[in-house]
Amino acid sequence: MRRGSPARPGVLALTIIALTLAACATRATAPAAPASPAAATPAPGAGTTPAPAGPARIVYRGNPARRMVALTFDAGSDAGFTAQVLDTLRREHVRASFAITGLWAEQHRDLLLAIAAGGHRLINHSYDHASFTGRSTATAPLSARQRALELSRTETTVYHLTGRTTRPYFRPPYGDIDASVEADAARDGYGTIVMWTVDTLGWKGAPADAIVQRALSQAEPGAIYVMHVGSASQDAAALPRIIDGLRAQGYSFGSIGDVLAP
Ligand SMILES: [Zn+2]
Repeated sequence: MRRGSPARPGVLALTIIALTLAACATRATAPAAPASPAAATPAPGAGTTPAPAGPARIVYRGNPARRMVALTFDAGSDAGFTAQVLDTLRREHVRASFAITGLWAEQHRDLLLAIAAGGHRLINHSYDHASFTGRSTATAPLSARQRALELSRTETTVYHLTGRTTRPYFRPPYGDIDASVEADAARDGYGTIVMWTVDTLGWKGAPADAIVQRALSQAEPGAIYVMHVGSASQDAAALPRIIDGLRAQGYSFGSIGDVLAP
């Protein structure tokens, strides 16, 4: 965009906006993001020297300097207790984050819309929950192209239905990551790989009491909780007591972006 004609005011303004965005954006930017409606946000660095596309930042915990935690819910199996979780969050005025697969989004559009309407942050959890490295599923690792497709299909669906982007947040299925996933995710516009600090183990069949106990005893400033909306998990049943208990310990709740903020 800088090529050719001398800088006009409009071009200059755009450059400033781009620079500002680049400064605010997470480290990794996507110089060659796949064509997708999510390109509604201008590509950071457009018209300037492209930012180096380093590997994605892997986060296990938010800012420890703030007494705030992030509740994140994975949605990749059935509709489960999503509506119940949303009810609790609404009643308690808690803003959370949902890591959803594209397949889940397609199959539960009403719930996806309810999540977005609730003001919760959306995280890309791949399209069909395939392990990117294959480690947890004893399968071949996905190629860079397959990974890009997993991410873009989900992003496209979510963006079409809600007008929201999942970028820059990616939660890897099974938590499977390695250096190649870090590089590929960053290249696809997912500069932040969201792991977790506390796993309530609801997905493993823990009863609600044990989930509450675990969630409260492992609380720490900046903690990222991973829970699940699926019917296999009692996380939804435990949620009201988790929120009460964390509040009693002086914690507030934020989206993944809120807890990661400096
Ligand atoms: Zn998952």
